Amino acid sequence: MVVDPLTCTALKKLYERALTNGFMLRVSKGNRFIFCYHDVSEADAPHHSWRYSTTPARFKEHIDLFQQLFTMVPLEALANDRDLPTGRNYAALTFDDGFHSVLTHVLPMLRSAALPFTVFLNGLAVEHGRGWITDLVLAEKDPVFVKGMLAATALAPADAGDAIGAIMARGRFTAAFAQRPMLAPRTKIYLDRDDVRRLHAEGVTIGDHGYQHAVLSRCEDAVLQAEVSAGRDLIADITGAAPRHYALAFGKHEHYTARAVEAIRQRGYTHVYNTNPNRVRKEELGGAELIPRIGFTGDTTDQVLFYVNRSLLRKFTL
Ligand SMILES: [Zn+2]
Repeated sequence: MVVDPLTCTALKKLYERALTNGFMLRVSKGNRFIFCYHDVSEADAPHHSWRYSTTPARFKEHIDLFQQLFTMVPLEALANDRDLPTGRNYAALTFDDGFHSVLTHVLPMLRSAALPFTVFLNGLAVEHGRGWITDLVLAEKDPVFVKGMLAATALAPADAGDAIGAIMARGRFTAAFAQRPMLAPRTKIYLDRDDVRRLHAEGVTIGDHGYQHAVLSRCEDAVLQAEVSAGRDLIADITGAAPRHYALAFGKHEHYTARAVEAIRQRGYTHVYNTNPNRVRKEELGGAELIPRIGFTGDTTDQVLFYVNRSLLRKFTL
């Protein structure tokens, strides 16, 4: 079939308009979504990055939109409860990496709206206040630091232009990774033990996100074992209960293996989350399969609606 360019543009516009309003969710009910955020910080915060940050003002826009569209439920209910009434759409909020801004910005906003949420922690960040990605954001103009990070992940100095991207795509996580350079903490970026205890006392679900935020598909065995157990032990020590939910670092197919997921399940995690931008389907309830999450950073509400609506039409495997 030949479609003339004018019709094609018109169709594309129509498609875009259909995907950026609430119409599809008004006619399609019983859907479930898990949203994934990281940091909620002002644009001038030292660690703020387009890679993982959302400004508080933008985050508020998202929350207002979600309250119009969804019944917000705890992650546990969204991922497990097969008996949620089908006349509504449901969403759960999750925050990866354990940024301190979850306590300073997210908790006050979500508590005043009585919205439940989950935090997925990196144990090393809780214990030492640093993470390799934020270290690289803060030290991106320090060539010695960047070169040291690249060497610690078996990459060459030629990757200094986008060290984070290169490590995500090709870095190796061996014993040398633990010897990487780390920035001395200057500002508080991550939740510490007391912060986690406080969030837990506020009813926030605490999950695991890998001890060092390594790419599981490129970990040597000892690192992999630590990634899936050290955070669990730490969280159990802080909250008094072993976590049951594990969010895979980076979360795309290239970032984990079946063996890594098996190692996670063997540690007692009942629910494992990736970042395929899909709604949660019936067969994924209960935790036997990987559970998808849709990630947002600085997206406009139109973009948020686009990703939500798109997931009603198509299943992605990234
Ligand atoms: Zn993460």
